[in-house]
Amino acid sequence: MKILIVEDEPKTGEYLQQGLTEAGFVVDLARDGIDGLHMAQGLDYDLVILDVMLPGLNGWEVLQRLRARGQHMPAMFLTARDQVEDRVKGLELGADDYLVKPFSFAELLARVRTILRRGRSGQEVTTLKVADLELDLLRRRVSRAGRRVDLTAKEFGLLELLMRRHGEVLPRSLIASQVWDMNFDSDTNVIEVAVRRLRSKIDEGQTVKLIQTVRGMGYVLEVPQEP
Ligand code: CA
Repeated sequence: MKILIVEDEPKTGEYLQQGLTEAGFVVDLARDGIDGLHMAQGLDYDLVILDVMLPGLNGWEVLQRLRARGQHMPAMFLTARDQVEDRVKGLELGADDYLVKPFSFAELLARVRTILRRGRSGQEVTTLKVADLELDLLRRRVSRAGRRVDLTAKEFGLLELLMRRHGEVLPRSLIASQVWDMNFDSDTNVIEVAVRRLRSKIDEGQTVKLIQTVRGMGYVLEVPQEP
C-alpha cells in the first residue's frame, strides 16, 4: 500500500516516513503543497496524509484540487491547531480523518490502518478470506486452515495485495511499486525471492496451492481450477 505524506517540517516528515516504512508501507514524502499536489496527481496513492499549514498550497487547497480532479483517495489531515472549525473544514472537504499535533506514532498508525481497511468503498473490511486462508487486518495475523502463519511486514503487505485482488494476475511491476518502492526496471529478483518465501509459508504441505505463477506475466492468488 502506498502512502504520500505532505509535511514541511523535516523532522516530523522523516519520522513518519521511517515509521510507516517499517510498518510495511511504501511511503513518499513531499515538503510543500505544490510538490505534494504534483505527486498525488501522478500516482495512485492509497492514502494521502496532509499537514494543514504548508508552504505553497496549504493542505486544504491540496485536497480541494485533488477532489476537483476527481481523485478520491482517502486523506488524513495533521494540524497543530485544535480548533473545531478546522476539523469541520477538513471533513467538509472530504477528509477521512483528522489528527491534532502532537500525536503518538502508535495513534497515527492505528488511524492509518483503519482508513485503509475502509478503503474507497467506505465500508470497513477487517478480514480478507480466500478458501481457508485468512488475513486479519486488525490483529495483523494470517492463518491457513486455522493454523497461524508468521509473516514479516513485507510478506504481510505482499499477501494483503494478492488477497485484495485475488483472481487477478498482478504483474511484477505492480507488485514492485505497491509493496516495494521500486520501478519495473529494478531487480525483480527481490519479488521472486519474497514470493517464494511467502509461498513456502502459505502453500507448503497444503493440497491446494493458492499462489500461482503466471509465466511471463506475474502472480495470482486463487483456488486453482480443476483440470
Ligand atoms: Ca507545517
